[in-house]
Amino acid sequence: MLSLHGRCAFSSSLLTRTATSSLRAVPHGFFSFLFPAECRICDIPLDVFTRVPVCRNCLNAPEPLEADYFCAICNAPFLNDFPLDANGVCALCRSGKQGFDRAASFGFYEGPLRSLIHLFKYSGMRPLAGRLAHLMDRALPIDERFDFIVPVPLHWRRRWNRGFNQAELLASELSEHRRIPILNALWRRKQTGNQAGLTSAARRSNIAGAFEPRAGIDLHGKRVLLIDDVFTTGATASACARALKKAGAGTVSLLTLARADRRWRP
Ligand SMILES: [Zn+2]
Ligand SMILES: [Zn+2]
Repeated sequence: MLSLHGRCAFSSSLLTRTATSSLRAVPHGFFSFLFPAECRICDIPLDVFTRVPVCRNCLNAPEPLEADYFCAICNAPFLNDFPLDANGVCALCRSGKQGFDRAASFGFYEGPLRSLIHLFKYSGMRPLAGRLAHLMDRALPIDERFDFIVPVPLHWRRRWNRGFNQAELLASELSEHRRIPILNALWRRKQTGNQAGLTSAARRSNIAGAFEPRAGIDLHGKRVLLIDDVFTTGATASACARALKKAGAGTVSLLTLARADRRWRP
């Protein structure tokens, strides 16, 4: 089972590997042509040219999730225990609308983590994958066992436009470190457009039936780790989890890099 808070010891070897791979200095002329000499997050001048034009402070800035109360299933943070039942489960999970069995995320989708995700996803800074996957690794208990890692698929048209699927890149880094094979078990049969601005219920109905198991995939009794970059309402992950269960998956645990903080503050 994933731990509620997802904070656990993490391997220093991955840290070293990802830090050196993303921070390795490269010949000045090549990347100075591609990247400005300022950190793309805080604008301070960079003293070395790196594969990722982000300073060390900004790379090290993302903080793990902090909240006093979390749902025992979806890991949603709460300001008090009022929304949680005696088992520590939130109303959405009690309603059965979350299709996965457990969820964990590294941090909130805000501040430097949000900036790093934007650089990775929308500015095509693929070398950030190792660094970001290292953060995800921290949210996963070291002794957790899975049979397969499954990335949330993009619709082929969006993948074509972006040139890569961010969930696949993160999954691939995590797979290498945890030695869990990747299985591209799902395909996305419909493009759902931008879900931003939709309510949780609208997102759910918008994305229902968007994912299908690939032909011939049999996950009977398997423990699946589903990977995505951002958890907003859980609608996408739930639709994927349902498709994985349709293919026989025994358990589906969701791991995301970041999650939206939807706590209401007066
Ligand atoms: Zn910076
Ligand atoms: Zn919940």
